[in-house]
Amino acid sequence: MDFTLNEEQIAIRDTCREFAEQEIKPRAEEMDATGKFPYALIHKMGEIGLLGLPFPEEYGGAGADFLSYCIAIEEISRGDVSVGVTMEAHTSLGAMPFYLFGNEQQKQRYLPPLAHGEQLWAFGLTESESGSDSGGAQTRAVLQDGHWRINGSKAFITNAGTDITGGVTIAAVTGTRPDRRNEISNIIVPKGTAGYIIGKSYKKMGWKASDTRPLAFEDCLVPAENILGQRGDGFKQFMHILDGGRVAIAALSVGLAQACLDEALSYAKQRKQFGQSISTFQAIQFKLADMATEIELARLMYYKAAWLHMQGKPFRREASMAKLFASETAKRAADQAVQIHGGYGFMDEYPVSRYWRSVKINEIGEGTSEIQRIIIAKELGC
Ligand SMILES: Cc1cc2nc3c(=O)[nH]c(=O)nc-3n(C[C@H](O)[C@H](O)[C@H](O)COP(=O)(O)OP(=O)(O)OC[C@H]3O[C@@H](n4cnc5c(N)ncnc54)[C@H](O)[C@@H]3O)c2cc1C
Repeated sequence: MDFTLNEEQIAIRDTCREFAEQEIKPRAEEMDATGKFPYALIHKMGEIGLLGLPFPEEYGGAGADFLSYCIAIEEISRGDVSVGVTMEAHTSLGAMPFYLFGNEQQKQRYLPPLAHGEQLWAFGLTESESGSDSGGAQTRAVLQDGHWRINGSKAFITNAGTDITGGVTIAAVTGTRPDRRNEISNIIVPKGTAGYIIGKSYKKMGWKASDTRPLAFEDCLVPAENILGQRGDGFKQFMHILDGGRVAIAALSVGLAQACLDEALSYAKQRKQFGQSISTFQAIQFKLADMATEIELARLMYYKAAWLHMQGKPFRREASMAKLFASETAKRAADQAVQIHGGYGFMDEYPVSRYWRSVKINEIGEGTSEIQRIIIAKELGC
């Protein structure tokens, strides 16, 4: 088994690590305090190709492989998770559906501005009454006179309301299947469409500088051709999108866990109690050793899931395992990082306090830990 990264993967990792260290980390505290969306950073990331990493050059992408993209998410999230999730939601949830399921015309039209970072795109699946039960969407789209008439709402949609957002792809009920279950299709809704109402940003516990909004659709009309792929394929499409997204969220969690270890190790070496660095106490060393071990394992798990994906092999089980383990690893790492900082860890000026607040959502977004366990159990044959 060869765990060596190739030259391109190393180059992307190093570029992202340097960018996170020099451009993102110094602004992270301010972004958290103000909650302002980091337009300048996102613009720079677009310029260096980070917002279209896994898409072919013919659609404006960088042509990188899926593992390189995940490694990039890890490194950017090590700098700041608000920026990491903006990149992840834009790429895995916003742009990827066009690439995987769009027809050639849709790919040519929508992907290049997204891959260049000129626009962001959102994916609207969750509703106030259907979260984990993602097939229970109530938003309806009726085909009338060559247009979809959409009525309904969405909740918690990332990247939906920034100044550079191009639009959202939403899951909507478009009919009834022969087995009487809802027929779900994914429909492209450009920003500015009449009847598409973007709500105010939520006030959040973490990921403060990322954009999260409720959306409403009131007799919103989009052309019939705005359907993504085939009518009725919506559920199948977003299950596949979420599998890939979960590998990227695992990478994001590893980045945050690594940031916790970085801060905890450096603090432990310089903080003195009882006349010596606290890093000389075995109780502290064991916490650091456990953090490093779990991070290594979580990283290998997302590498394997990404590798399977790149080989065209089934990877749903490994994606859920990686997401589950990495998000829970990050939570334990954030907790121990605050513990190692003592009272200072509770103070806002120490990054670990921000990490502790931001880590919780990793166990919720793109499928909660309970849902990951259900998927894994199903894959085991339960
Ligand atoms: C900051 C943020 C960004 C987000 N971005 C997006 C986005 O861009 N696009 C999008 O579509 N959605 C997005 N979401 C929504 C997110 O995916 C959902 O919040 C998540 O899937 C959980 O749904 P819910 O919040 O409705 O919780 P619920 O489904 O109501 O779950 C509540 C609790 O019940 C548990 N539960 C539910 N069903 C079961 C079951 N069968 N067995 C056991 N336990 C169960 C859950 O695990 C959880 O603990 C975002 C959410 C947040 C907070």
